[in-house]
Amino acid sequence: MRDVWHSVRAELDQWQRERRVAQFWWRDDDAADASDELKKMLALARRFDVTVGLSVIPAKLNPRLVPLLDPRQVLIHGFAHENHAREGQAKREFGGTRSFDEILGDLEGGIVLIRKILDPRVLPVLVPPWNRIVPSALAHLPRLGFRGLSTWKPRAVARPVRGLLQVNTHLDIIDWRHGRAIKDERLVAGLLLRKLRWRRALKQRASEPLGLLTHHAYWSPAKEQVVVRMLEATRNHPAAIWHTPASAFGL
Ligand SMILES: [Zn+2]
Repeated sequence: MRDVWHSVRAELDQWQRERRVAQFWWRDDDAADASDELKKMLALARRFDVTVGLSVIPAKLNPRLVPLLDPRQVLIHGFAHENHAREGQAKREFGGTRSFDEILGDLEGGIVLIRKILDPRVLPVLVPPWNRIVPSALAHLPRLGFRGLSTWKPRAVARPVRGLLQVNTHLDIIDWRHGRAIKDERLVAGLLLRKLRWRRALKQRASEPLGLLTHHAYWSPAKEQVVVRMLEATRNHPAAIWHTPASAFGL
């Protein structure tokens, strides 16, 4: 079988010819306990010398997880990852049936709690569960201590409000609509290729690092294989850099 990642490497070669650098980062969501899946994922990241940004759920954080974490890789995954959507709405923690005061209270509760349990040096980056947050809450985030925001899809602007840098994720290896299966490797490589080409064509879009999104709870040998192949194609390419979560957010 022809290597489906060949075209990704060829695209990065083109970045190199154009003296450009493709930026990447990796976000993994829903960390709460020291599971085997999480350990496997962290071991894989270490193998490639990549620091994963781990979205940790403050109110569900088991102390057993703490020794496994470097606070400078931890992002704040909302408060309790509870769904407060109204009927018919897509899932969300920060919106739906919650009053604005309750939303702000949970946002503040999340950052205060995780700093207390884990470490005050946790990255002040909010990853709202299900990648959703009521837009009017954004203006309050810097006051609550947040300096970064991460959701899904290309960001509209780098700084949605003053003092808050947004760096999203763009490539999800899971097919949520079909039993949380792994997307076909060819599909993942094709998606990555398209996203790289788009960034190369629209230069201002390349300023946002391209975010790989994983969920370690659904880790499997097949998923690991896709991530391995992606890292093999990009990690040591001279036209690619893999940010740490801290560097992706300039922290
Ligand atoms: Zn989540």
